Amino acid sequence: MTDYLFDTPDFPTIPVQGEAAGYPVVRIFCVGRNYAAHAAEMGVDVDREAPFYFSKNPMHTLASGSTVKYPPQTENYHYEMELALVIGKPVFRATAAEAEAAIYAYGCALDMTRRDLQLVARAKQRPWDLGKDFEDSAVFAELTKAADFAPIGPQRIHLEVNGETKQDAHLSDLIHSCIDVVVDLSKFYHLAPGDVIMTGTPAGVGPVVAGDKITGGIDGLAPISLTIGAAE
Ligand code: MN
Repeated sequence: MTDYLFDTPDFPTIPVQGEAAGYPVVRIFCVGRNYAAHAAEMGVDVDREAPFYFSKNPMHTLASGSTVKYPPQTENYHYEMELALVIGKPVFRATAAEAEAAIYAYGCALDMTRRDLQLVARAKQRPWDLGKDFEDSAVFAELTKAADFAPIGPQRIHLEVNGETKQDAHLSDLIHSCIDVVVDLSKFYHLAPGDVIMTGTPAGVGPVVAGDKITGGIDGLAPISLTIGAAE
């Protein structure tokens, strides 16, 4: 064990269907604008040549089913329903076949966003951290191993707020596929077990307030939920 000067938390984990141990969250990478209809609603063009990324601190992980405090310094707290994938073997400069073999599991995720802060940062050409990378902003449901998830394509991806459908698309709408994202990201990083990738959100993002309940799902994966509590 490392001899730390202060008590330090372990890495968060995400439950995996059929496994007693959890998947460790060491790094979280997020793809921006990976559905054309969402890019359009954000008033920006899609780059079909290559994905772009931002990241979240792994300590900002929250389990599906939690109640989250409405976060500070925002008046426009948004949901983004996403497909997450996690890496199961080291890969660098991956071929498509290597990328596919490196994907260990898939799951539902929420990329919770302080939209007002993100848009201020975007307008000032500053980093998105305050808008995207804050406490409890990365919500994950139970993972399903890749071998148990049908080839990606026709599955519906959807999100409801208080039972009303807000996001409704299909994984075939992804501009950059999961394999393409792993191929591309592995040009920049030595990907390894512990790396979680959120693959972007479809159209229909919007705000939630205290008392709202978010539910979401992707065909073939465990569903996700989050209840919004009062501000601190
Ligand atoms: Mn997102």
